[in-house]
Amino acid sequence: MMHSTPIPPDALEGAHAEEASSDEEVLEPRRVGQGGRPRERTCAACGQKAHGKELLRVVMGPWNGTFAEVAVDFANGAIGRGAHIHPTVQCLKKAVASGFSKSFKSKIVANAEELAREIVLGSERAIIGLVTSAVARRRVAVGADASKESMKEGAPLLLVASDAGSIASEFHAYADEGRISVFGDKQVLGKLCGKSEVAVLAITDENIASAIVAATTMAGPFRGTSGSEACMSPEVR
Ligand SMILES: [Zn+2]
Repeated sequence: MMHSTPIPPDALEGAHAEEASSDEEVLEPRRVGQGGRPRERTCAACGQKAHGKELLRVVMGPWNGTFAEVAVDFANGAIGRGAHIHPTVQCLKKAVASGFSKSFKSKIVANAEELAREIVLGSERAIIGLVTSAVARRRVAVGADASKESMKEGAPLLLVASDAGSIASEFHAYADEGRISVFGDKQVLGKLCGKSEVAVLAITDENIASAIVAATTMAGPFRGTSGSEACMSPEVR
């Protein structure tokens, strides 16, 4: 399976999704249920339960006297009253139509397309942070030769620039194993690695790789609905 992550023009602008309202904030840290298993949450749209990790968190903004808005909490750590939904277009639309208002017991005004866009941006910020962390910890193999060696040795994930060209085909066998994710372009990957251009890089850290795949998967259903264009992130240029 091939993960694809184009970067929209304003991928790194602002971080309003992480900010919570200043009034009546309720600290709701990531909790672990009994036995160390992730806490189960109920989808505000379809009502089905799932582990918190599998759901997107949305926080309620300030009450303006008539209604409140919501923001996507992609990092799952923002303070504020939270609700959870499945990362699907169907559940997002249903939550916007009625689920959020029921869940927050308040009139919620939200736009599914805007929230979808926030989800895609949140995913890209998360991936940029994860790659930066992998580079800083030297848990990457940069470039075609080093990546080939690293993937042969079992590196969990290869990041491929959307404009990598024919180099990408040399790694095609790994796509079926879910070990390839397309992210950014050569300049974006290069910037993250402190180089001018990088077409491919292998992530050698299991935790970072699985977090990148999780962030990619979470935003997957919303790509193409948000009108994002590839690869113009100002902060990584
Ligand atoms: Zn649902």
